[in-house]
Parts: sequence; structure tokens; C-alpha cells
Amino acid sequence: MDEHEIDCLRKAGAISKDARELGASLVKEGGRLVDVAEEVESLIIRRGARPAFPVNIGINDVAAHYTPSTGDKAVFSAGDVVKVDVGAHVDGYVGDTAITVEVGTKNWRPLLEASEKALRMALDMVGDGVAVSSLGAAIERAIRDVGLKPVTNLTGHGMRRYSLHAGLTIPNINDGSTAKIKKDMVVAIEPFATNGAGQVYNEKPGNIFRVVKERPMRDKKAEEFFKTIASNFGSLPFCERWCTSLNPEAPVLLRTLVRHGLISSYSILREVKGGMVSQAEHTVVIDGERREITTL
Ligand code: MN
Ligand code: MN
Repeated sequence: MDEHEIDCLRKAGAISKDARELGASLVKEGGRLVDVAEEVESLIIRRGARPAFPVNIGINDVAAHYTPSTGDKAVFSAGDVVKVDVGAHVDGYVGDTAITVEVGTKNWRPLLEASEKALRMALDMVGDGVAVSSLGAAIERAIRDVGLKPVTNLTGHGMRRYSLHAGLTIPNINDGSTAKIKKDMVVAIEPFATNGAGQVYNEKPGNIFRVVKERPMRDKKAEEFFKTIASNFGSLPFCERWCTSLNPEAPVLLRTLVRHGLISSYSILREVKGGMVSQAEHTVVIDGERREITTL
């Protein structure tokens, strides 16, 4: 791994960590989700990085892929279990990290601790030559030991420059995979724990999107808008909030682009039985014999 790459990964990791901690500290009863998302993203930019994806704020049985929209009125309520998942990149090199907090209560300590402990177990083991299924097994064991379930259809992932999910999948169970962690990989490990069934389903499309492919359109306004999006966000996920500052008609134009297949939207991921979900995530760089957790 060259000097520039590791340097960017470290910066991105440190900024992601600060963003995560700021986000967690801002989650308060009556506070607006959109304010938290915007403050976190502006910290990332102020510190000289860019968001690698819109801040994900998942409440209770929402595991992932929810970010507030422009003018979103949603607020945090006492007792909510809130996942704050943030990412920053420096020159395309990403830090991806998440934490779960409760709003004003301590009802879900075991749930929050289960994903944290599972993450620690996996981080203790990760390194060159380690099978991803053994990481999954450790995660699964830590969560099942306290009577909860891992979310089996959410996984950690490898990352490459400007690519959030590349190469490896790191399961949250022993899935029997023979894939191994290798040196020079960058991986995000992210156990999810739940008191539900242990699976998420695709609910309605949310307002996080990614570019799929360019194609000519009759609607020239939409075509122009697509070009703006593609040049601003490239291969990384983006959201409606980021688009309304580029074009006030963004909500309508985004729907047009989805309909024509130029962009796609991520569905909100919700636990199938409405179980509470917790998540913990760090990014690890396997730099030869060494491993470095960049978001710690
Ligand atoms: Mn994440
Ligand atoms: Mn991730």
C-alpha cells in the first residue's frame, strides 16, 4: 500500500470517526433527523473530506438506507434506538463507521452491546489469510450468546477507491464461504443484532440514489440534471438533500431519472418482524502484517 493511499485512508478514517461521534452526540429527543445529517456532513466537508455516502439514520426496526429528505419533519423520540452510519472519503479513499445510541433511555443496553462486542471479536481476528466465514462465525456467536440474532442478510464489505462495496463480503454469520482476507485490503466490518427474526426486507424506495448509466433522454432538463449529478457524485451514493441545492426541481427530476433507469434508489431496509436493530461498524486496513482500524 503506497504512502498516499494509507495517508488518505487515515485521514478519511479520523474524520469519519469524528463525524460519527458528533452525530451520536446530536441525537436528542425532539431533535430533527435532518439537522443531525446536515451537521455531520458539514463537519466532514469542513475537515477537508467529502461524504462517501449520505449520513444514514436508522430508527428502531430500520436497519439502513434511510437518510432524511429536504425539510424532513421527522424527530427523535425518547426510547428510539438510533443507528448513525457515516462515511467520509479523501481522494476516493473511504472510512465507513457506525454506532447505535438510545434516545434518553437505557432499555436496549444488551442489544447495543451485542453488535459492539461482535465487532470487537471480529476486529481481534481480522488479518491477512483469515477466512471471512470465521469472522462471521465470531460475530454470530457473540450475538447469539446473549439470546439475540445477527441480521443474516446484511454484511460487511471490501472497499476500493471511489467504491463503497468492492470485492469481499463479510458475513455476519458463518456462511461457509472460503473467501479470505488478504493484505492491502480495506474492509468495513458491520455486525447488526436484533431481537426480531434476523433478516431485513426492502421496504419502499428511500431517497438515497446512485448513478446507473448515462443514456439519451427526450426530457432535456432531466438529461442536464443527470450530467450534473454524475459529475458531482460519480460512483458514490448521493441523496435528494444534496440535489436540491443543485436544482430546486430535484425531487421531480430524480423520480424521472429513476423511472428511466439512469439512476437507482436504495430501498429502506427494515427488520422483517419489526425487531429492534443495533449496528456497529469500523473500517480496517490490512497493511501487510499489520492491521489498522482507521475509524477507532
Ligand atoms: Mn456504514
Ligand atoms: Mn459499510
